[in-house]
Amino acid sequence: KKIIIAIDGYSACGKSTTAKKVAAALNYRYIDSGAMYRAVTLYFLDQFVELTNPKAVEDALKNIEIDFRFNEKKGRSDTYLNGLNVEDEIRTMRVSQIVSQVSALPAVRRAMVAQQQRMGKQRGIVMDGRDIGTAVFPDAEVKVFMTADITIRAYRRQQELLEKGEMFDLDEIIENLKSRDYIDTHRSESPLVQAPDAYFLDTSFLTIDEQVEYVLQLATS
Ligand code: C5P
Repeated sequence: KKIIIAIDGYSACGKSTTAKKVAAALNYRYIDSGAMYRAVTLYFLDQFVELTNPKAVEDALKNIEIDFRFNEKKGRSDTYLNGLNVEDEIRTMRVSQIVSQVSALPAVRRAMVAQQQRMGKQRGIVMDGRDIGTAVFPDAEVKVFMTADITIRAYRRQQELLEKGEMFDLDEIIENLKSRDYIDTHRSESPLVQAPDAYFLDTSFLTIDEQVEYVLQLATS
């Protein structure tokens, strides 16, 4: 029987890397919910949507269409915003710096959660994010809550950004991760919190293969 696997946790703990590999091993679909919030944020930035204006936010959300399409050349799933491939742009620091503020808006959460739940109708998915096991799929069969040491997380993120030609001091990245975690855990609507039935996984000293193995064990037992 196909199940839903929910992977939540703090920023840059290896959630998406793990989720992708787990999905591939089980022949499930991987859905990156953070990419959806990032795409909304990119739209808000480009269209100068005022976060403090509820009407402007509601109107903007009506004009946003997000989907994922497989990129044969890169062997990965890319995020599309209104038909445009925004996969690289949504990972830039420009987006990371404001994504948690945008994600804290109740209207944004309502729209994204509804779309995520529709995507979950066909079971056999691995979704990672901040509220998947608590708000999106409270009935997910397997829930994992990930954390890792802040310096290790920042170092890993620094390497990823470097590979894309974005250079940042470790301190700047630590600041960004801490501030996102703070906003994510303190927002009014479905804040980041470990679901009571989630397994806790600290990835600080684990290899990616070990993380994947841990989740696969839970999924197949
Ligand atoms: O997963 P990622 O770090 O790319 O997510 C970017 C941001 O989107 C998070 O810092 C968080 O503010 C927001 N987010 C969220 N709920 C989710 C996934 C992401 O609020 N389910």
